[in-house]
Amino acid sequence: MDRAGIELNGVRYRWPSRPVVVVCIDGGDPAYFERGVRDGIVPNVARFMETGFNAVAKGDVPSFTCPNNMSITTGSPQSVHGISGNFYLDRDTGEAVVMTGPELLRSRTIMAEFSRHGARVVSITAKDKLRRQLGKDMDLRQGSVNFSAECADQCNPEETGIEDALALTGMPLPPIYSAELSLFVLEAGIKLLEARRPDILYLSLTDYVQHKYAPGESEANRYYRDLDEKFGRLDALGAVVALTADHGMNDKSDADGAPRVIWLQDLLDARFGEKTSTVICPITDRFVAHHGALGGFVRVYCHAALDPEDVMRATRSLPGVEAVYDRTTAARLFDLPLDREGDVVVIGRADIVIGAAAADHDLSGLKGHRLRSHGGVSEREVPFIVNHPLRAEYAARAAAGGLKSSEIFDFAINGVDRP
Ligand SMILES: [Zn+2]
Repeated sequence: MDRAGIELNGVRYRWPSRPVVVVCIDGGDPAYFERGVRDGIVPNVARFMETGFNAVAKGDVPSFTCPNNMSITTGSPQSVHGISGNFYLDRDTGEAVVMTGPELLRSRTIMAEFSRHGARVVSITAKDKLRRQLGKDMDLRQGSVNFSAECADQCNPEETGIEDALALTGMPLPPIYSAELSLFVLEAGIKLLEARRPDILYLSLTDYVQHKYAPGESEANRYYRDLDEKFGRLDALGAVVALTADHGMNDKSDADGAPRVIWLQDLLDARFGEKTSTVICPITDRFVAHHGALGGFVRVYCHAALDPEDVMRATRSLPGVEAVYDRTTAARLFDLPLDREGDVVVIGRADIVIGAAAADHDLSGLKGHRLRSHGGVSEREVPFIVNHPLRAEYAARAAAGGLKSSEIFDFAINGVDRP
């Protein structure tokens, strides 16, 4: 068995001497922990912050789920791993494509690479959309596991490395829109940590609660109390526990509770004519009831004679727009894969979302809740917490500034003293 560690995307990862757990708290804006610590909701996390390491790091822009999960698990920027949205427009076919296929991922994950060197790894996600990319080229023969809570009733050893995830957790199959979906992921991680003592675990949650409830609301408090209890159990099992998020979350409604939306496709159609452009909202996935597919970052694809410069001029002055970039500037600024970039990138302010055509977004799922969402530069800040103190070299790196969430595996595996 290779005990020399692995190298991936220019980073050397040593062989973990004890289990390393990285948790991606989907939509886990730093404000939830700040408030939770102040209100005594998250005692275990408060202890990690005090006796381990605590910082606010930057995730990648667009601040969406798929890109940042892949940045975290490959330790690389979007220009390397290729996943720059949940959704993109294939220029060859003109079709909007969900960006969850493993063939679109241009790197292996750290978990997959370790599994191929004989390590036992565990990767569990709340929503099934991430599962196949996280498990790309993963070797399940040494007891490694890769499944989603969403499809926990459909596990089979060949594909997931596990027979029965429901029996493992003792929990019923959780609904897709629920806090339990995330708690299921953590409970399964705890049970596998106890039973199989894996080397590396990646546990990726869902942001259903954060889309609906602000820090301090009782439902958010209940969720964070439950998360904290699970983090405490992972810590008690002797693991290095590292907590981060894929993106933050901001309130996008006005004083009356109505969503603040720029309907960009409607505006561009009125200005330049129908079918001259396509606005893609890369927040979109199969489950959009909690945000109506509205986020803070969209891509505009220009057709026929429409000049991107004209689109940029028309959008720059719109109230609520924070920044507009052409594709090469956006790709350079945010380290994006140029071949998958739109012609124009439009980013909203912290308090606003950008949609396509009003008729194409269903907001009925909000059911009277204020719209909370993400995607822009304003939601790129995420927690970066480790339950153990860092070695001097890593503490110095963090202190130098510019810490990124995509460094969390490096810090959790290489940055903590061996026992
Ligand atoms: Zn997310």
